[in-house]
Amino acid sequence: MDYLQLHQQYKETSISGRYITLQHIEPLLAKYKTEVIGQSVLSKPLYKLQFGSGKTKILMWSQMHGNESTTTKALFDFINLAHSSTDLGKSLRSKFTFCLLPMLNPDGAELYTRENANEIDLNRDAQNLSQPESVLLRKTFEEFKPDYCYNLHDQRTIFAAGTTGKPATVSFLAPAYNEEREINDVRIKAMNVIVAMNETLQDYIPNQIGRFDDSFNLNCIGDTFQYLNSPTILFEAGHFQNDYNREMTRMYIFIALVSGLQNLHENDIVHNKIEDYLKIPQNKVAFCDFVYKNVKINYDNVEKIVNFAAQFKEVLKNGAIAFEAVISKVDDLEHYFGHITVDANNEIYHDVEGNYPKIGAKANFNLGKIKIVNGTLS
Ligand SMILES: [Zn+2]
Repeated sequence: MDYLQLHQQYKETSISGRYITLQHIEPLLAKYKTEVIGQSVLSKPLYKLQFGSGKTKILMWSQMHGNESTTTKALFDFINLAHSSTDLGKSLRSKFTFCLLPMLNPDGAELYTRENANEIDLNRDAQNLSQPESVLLRKTFEEFKPDYCYNLHDQRTIFAAGTTGKPATVSFLAPAYNEEREINDVRIKAMNVIVAMNETLQDYIPNQIGRFDDSFNLNCIGDTFQYLNSPTILFEAGHFQNDYNREMTRMYIFIALVSGLQNLHENDIVHNKIEDYLKIPQNKVAFCDFVYKNVKINYDNVEKIVNFAAQFKEVLKNGAIAFEAVISKVDDLEHYFGHITVDANNEIYHDVEGNYPKIGAKANFNLGKIKIVNGTLS
């Protein structure tokens, strides 16, 4: 199947970029029969979209972390496909029943924060259930009794897929259900879907798929649902080269969703794919957005050559996300790659304030004659 063409055809073009709020998705939801299952802390509606008549029940929720919108975009691309009159659309609706919560944290989405309006991380609230959004997700889970749960997130640009030197554009996890991280049939089912998605994605983004850390924490929603015997898959949409708006990653998440579901209904029997799952390289913190190498600095009248790094801060400005490069590390960069690397060839650093990079300062400086503005060669 040509997944690139498929995505092109069903991409929801009315939403793009990083700032996706309820305002952006409400006109899309209005096309379908949705249900408001309750309200957020700031009384915003939490929408549920349920469709399909198949026996395998899939629960998906996105933007539990408000500033993680990539999977929401992919979900609407998927919704377009799944409502189409094509054979694939029909087959998805007849094999599966989908229950989708496309924006679990609308307050955080509006504020562009990970946490909800009470500054609580909903993905650490699975036991306390102290927040209305957590209660509503749990209630939906208990009523729907899903055969599979898809927990949809974004991850930062710092992750590499193992030691490949490539960014982890998509990472997956079949969360642990106990401290010993044992593997039972529930977890195997989640692993099998991940293996299928990984195999498909390798054709498109070779060596850019990672496996997230499986430390057990029952406060995390995925660990709790796995513990409650519903195979659960964590999706982490990550960085693709030069794609800070995550429009490419959005496509790869779409491909993962579709290929995983196709595999699910073709393979009802539980084959054990643990080994293939464990072969997916683990996520590793190995990237900075910018690395500047071989920079001469003058510190206390001593000249030396250093490497330093800058990282984008995402700032909500006038209804869009601005990427502001800030100096994040000086030296100790042996184990880091830059998404963009600038070799200063021993040219001297200077900025408006002085002759050495300061952590936390905006990345506007000169390296000899090279001028760097907002992290980038200008
Ligand atoms: Zn997240």
